[in-house]
Amino acid sequence: MAPREDKADVLIIGSGATGSIAAMVLGQAGLDVVCLEQGGWVEAQDHPHYHADWQWQRRTRWSSDVNVRQGNTDDFPVRSDSSQVLMWNGVGGSTNVYGGLWPRYRPSDFRKGTEHGLQPDWPISYEDVAPFYDRADRLVGVSGLAGDPSMPAHSDYPTPPVPLGGPSRRLAKAFDRLGWHWWPVPAGVISTDYDGRKACHGCGVCSGCARGSMSKFALSVWPKALAAGVDLRIYARVLRIEKGRDGRAAGAVYVDRATGRLRQVKADVVIVAANGVGTPRLLLASDNLANSSGEVGRNLLHHTLVACEMWVDEPLAAHTGYVASLISREFAETDTGRGFVNGFNFNCVTTGGAGEQANGYLSNARAPFGKGHHRWFERHFGRGFGVFAIGDDLPSPDNRVTLSATERDDDGVPVAQLSYKPGDNDRRMMRFMLERLVDIAKATEAFEYRLQDYIDENGVYRTPAWHLLGTCRMGKTPDMSVVNKWHQCWDVPNLFIVDASVFTTGGVVNPTATVCALALRAAEHIRDSFGELRSATRPLAA
Ligand SMILES: Cc1cc2nc3c(=O)[nH]c(=O)nc-3n(C[C@H](O)[C@H](O)[C@H](O)COP(=O)(O)OP(=O)(O)OC[C@H]3O[C@@H](n4cnc5c(N)ncnc54)[C@H](O)[C@@H]3O)c2cc1C
Repeated sequence: MAPREDKADVLIIGSGATGSIAAMVLGQAGLDVVCLEQGGWVEAQDHPHYHADWQWQRRTRWSSDVNVRQGNTDDFPVRSDSSQVLMWNGVGGSTNVYGGLWPRYRPSDFRKGTEHGLQPDWPISYEDVAPFYDRADRLVGVSGLAGDPSMPAHSDYPTPPVPLGGPSRRLAKAFDRLGWHWWPVPAGVISTDYDGRKACHGCGVCSGCARGSMSKFALSVWPKALAAGVDLRIYARVLRIEKGRDGRAAGAVYVDRATGRLRQVKADVVIVAANGVGTPRLLLASDNLANSSGEVGRNLLHHTLVACEMWVDEPLAAHTGYVASLISREFAETDTGRGFVNGFNFNCVTTGGAGEQANGYLSNARAPFGKGHHRWFERHFGRGFGVFAIGDDLPSPDNRVTLSATERDDDGVPVAQLSYKPGDNDRRMMRFMLERLVDIAKATEAFEYRLQDYIDENGVYRTPAWHLLGTCRMGKTPDMSVVNKWHQCWDVPNLFIVDASVFTTGGVVNPTATVCALALRAAEHIRDSFGELRSATRPLAA
């Protein structure tokens, strides 16, 4: 049976961080917007927070790894040869489970090509993005302290920083001892009531946020998009984007998962916001759409990442408060004297609940069962914290998302396959990071610390990193990139990609402040050029 068809001005695929922002901007402009989301709404009571077994749930049905929480029918299958696959598929996307750390990129993050030539420059600069950071922060609801000497000056955050907890105070002293930079981490968490939402009350169960104090886009951005008239269709899984004879995107075919029926939406402009895995998968499955460069799916960036969990002889109530505390950009810039290019930052985090601590939280340190259990527990619980070192990995064409040649999902779409290995530069960086983490553990006077290496005890590479960036990167020319500086596909002028797959390089910090600023910038560009885009057959002039 032919799919049932309807028509919109703008079709958006994916309702996560970026799809919601695009939907809001274009809906508020009076355009007729349809957004297709393969998952459903995530209600407060769906989160583990309100359940006695919340710690168990975080490891099972609420795991942020699609390959751990098996059986969630909102997910699509993703195989990986080496990394975790962390995401959430539902209204608000991965903001249902994320950590909300909200640092911005620095000017140098956009020009590594000029700096050392091993990565391309972005086609845009920090200054192009700066005004959108401020506006996206006000939309999303962010806390932080302006004046960080490691960042360009910018206006105040909408709410003050979340209070420094016990681990932050202990770590701040350690960073001072080392003479290293630190600053309260900006967070996608409101520290005072804001925009109709309640301030963070420091429950310590950050795993997404049922209360919405950590911006859960289903509660912060979607209400504005829906009020503007956006037609959000849930359980609507897109199978392919269709292309017309004129070379333009015609719309998409999706399965209505509630009825099992195929449907089609036609649109003047199609926006893909399905994340760093979902977007390349969909383009590849749509007859290799927008891929004349061969770059779709390539240059997958996860960030370099290693960590250290440490415990001190001081009760810190380290299982309470917002999950993150400090950021240090001491090593954010390239210093080739260290033996590698690019830099990294430190994120400091609290620990989990009693059950998680006893069973191994950030590292594999576990309380012994039987004799010695209580002694171990009293010594460790509430006295531990973690430090992550996250850095800028070099893009490689072999790190990529491809389609499985043998496996298909229930709708017949090939399964996404991730391949990722850090290069020599990334490995040298991670060795250096591990040494600096030991410096931090010693400066905190930890009585015990455990490193989380990127190679496991059997010598097998196993990245703890997970960000999903770079697989449809933006660039200055069509031969090395998928989209131009306005997120417009070089090959298909009315097709835009607004999610994190467009990142040219990964930067030194967590990406979502930049993801949101870029999505806002792209959506406003589409709004302002919509008249021309309706008939454009080539990318519009800059
Ligand atoms: C556990 C975890 C912790 C994180 N912590 C942080 C942090 O502390 N700080 C930070 O900066 N970032 C963090 N992130 C990353 C952050 O969540 C992402 O950068 C952000 O959500 C990306 O937005 P997006 O719109 O690209 O994708 P998503 O938010 O993932 O949304 C994509 C949406 O597209 C939908 N979709 C995909 N394919 C289809 C299809 N075929 N049809 C219909 N719908 C489809 C999906 O269901 C999903 O809802 C974290 C992520 C995870 C998973």
